[in-house]
Amino acid sequence: MDSSDLNWRNTDLGARVRVALWLRDEVGVGSTFSKAALRAAISGTEQVDRRMRDLRPAGWIIRTNLDKPSLQPDQLYLEAIGAPVWDREHRAAGLRQISARMRRDVYERDLYMCRRCGIGAAEAYPDEPGSRARLTLGRVSPHAAGGTAATEGFITECARCNERVRNLAGLQTDSGQVWERVKALPARQRRELLEWMIADVRPLTLIDYAWGLYRQLPGALRDGMRSQLQELVDSRGGGAAE
Ligand SMILES: [Zn+2]
Repeated sequence: MDSSDLNWRNTDLGARVRVALWLRDEVGVGSTFSKAALRAAISGTEQVDRRMRDLRPAGWIIRTNLDKPSLQPDQLYLEAIGAPVWDREHRAAGLRQISARMRRDVYERDLYMCRRCGIGAAEAYPDEPGSRARLTLGRVSPHAAGGTAATEGFITECARCNERVRNLAGLQTDSGQVWERVKALPARQRRELLEWMIADVRPLTLIDYAWGLYRQLPGALRDGMRSQLQELVDSRGGGAAE
């Protein structure tokens, strides 16, 4: 490919490279841009926002109003250009920083359950019968610049939560309605929720661990264990603690 083809309008280039070129040529360091303008420029590409976020591990610094409060919610700020991902030797910069091994370690630690909503791999979302949750890795602090490449920096997320958390637009949820729900919780659950908020992640409880491990057993062993627990629960009148 000759260098004249290195233009953000060239649809033969990957979306991440096109976004990088657009930012370099149309925005420039020290300028703001809107997500709408980015999407309009790189139209016809799915998940343009994600391709832009994928530049961050390559050293690109793009601020949102979450870490630069002077920005409007739809505004972004190009603070620094990182690796020239349009060059062949830098094309993979920042990508594939998650090894297969690390992915497995995180999934195993989290028992193959989304740490944000608790759904397990291939389970159906309660509000979406017939759906099958797909697990992926998310960052513990998705909006922080940079971030560690170590296992501790990642959690298991279902694709739906991952998209919501990473989506710079965030959910168009009315905070008043959320607060009504929070206030409606019994005191014990409010305290529990507060702990989740402080940790910014839903911690795994003992019952989550038991459930997650149970779900990893082969079907026949699960059946056996279910009957075993059924017996235990029946014999103790609801399974009161020993
Ligand atoms: Zn989830």
